[in-house]
Amino acid sequence: MSTGCVIGVDLGGTKLLAGAVDPALNVHHRATRSARGMEQPAVLDAVVAAVEEVRDAMEAASETVEAVGFGIPCLIDQERGVAVMAVNLPLAHLPFRDLMAERLGLPVFVDNDANGAMLAEWRFGAAAGARDAALLTLGTGIGGGLVLGGVQQRGSQGAGAELGHMVVQADGPRCQGNCPNRGCLEAMASGTALAREATKIARGRPQTGLGEALASGREINGMLVTELAHDGDSAAIDAIAVVGRWLGVGIANLVNMLNPDVVVVGGGVMAAGELLLEPAREVLAERALSPSKEHVRVVPARFGAEAGMLGAAALALDGIGALA
Ligand SMILES: [Zn+2]
Repeated sequence: MSTGCVIGVDLGGTKLLAGAVDPALNVHHRATRSARGMEQPAVLDAVVAAVEEVRDAMEAASETVEAVGFGIPCLIDQERGVAVMAVNLPLAHLPFRDLMAERLGLPVFVDNDANGAMLAEWRFGAAAGARDAALLTLGTGIGGGLVLGGVQQRGSQGAGAELGHMVVQADGPRCQGNCPNRGCLEAMASGTALAREATKIARGRPQTGLGEALASGREINGMLVTELAHDGDSAAIDAIAVVGRWLGVGIANLVNMLNPDVVVVGGGVMAAGELLLEPAREVLAERALSPSKEHVRVVPARFGAEAGMLGAAALALDGIGALA
């Protein structure tokens, strides 16, 4: 019995998640493996093991797997299926697609994880029905995805739509990883930037919950700031608003350039919800041009922690022509 299921694999810097997904994006089986601190051969073995585990579970239920999709936080040479360069994974100039196709014996599709998330949000989520859409995923870094004129855009080499590396402050802080730029949106509105802004604010306001957390030696990260903000701590709320306003500058640029129907914001930092999006929308209203700014919707992503895996599955479904 054929179900037309595919396996989507979200290959992150610390762990990987594989899931069997049907053409309506329902998840049937899941497997996870650690990828923390591994060398390249060990990462590839872990990937194969996770995919085999999901495939065995599907076969035990007399269901078949038609293809495998990978979402990797990495620059991908689309034509050759090569993982060119990753910030947080030991993958460089690796013919990932052919290697995996050979080891798994299935058709394999590979793309940047944010491109996968854009595809999933466009076909099934917050950007459904849009002709022109942009996606920003706010995590340790910022990933981007782009749909224009009803076609997903990756640029001439597949290295485009890196929306997180648009500059929003020309002389701003240095960007992360292999980016030679400074003042990128990633340097101003990522989870890393939120931690930095929150630490700065905490130092100046020791009486607040954020200030007390810093004084007690706790690590100030995006998750803690969000937790304190949801509890009503004014310093944490202000830190998120600072990042939200920079996000708004980036979105204003996108809106002026692209006149999108919708800008979808996802990733771990979106746990802050409206505390992040409201300041962003305010800056958008102040800075962007009419009529684009009145037309665009700025909305949270539909898919949360499993966005990478579902996006990878959507890539594979699209690749075999089975996307609903
Ligand atoms: Zn950058």
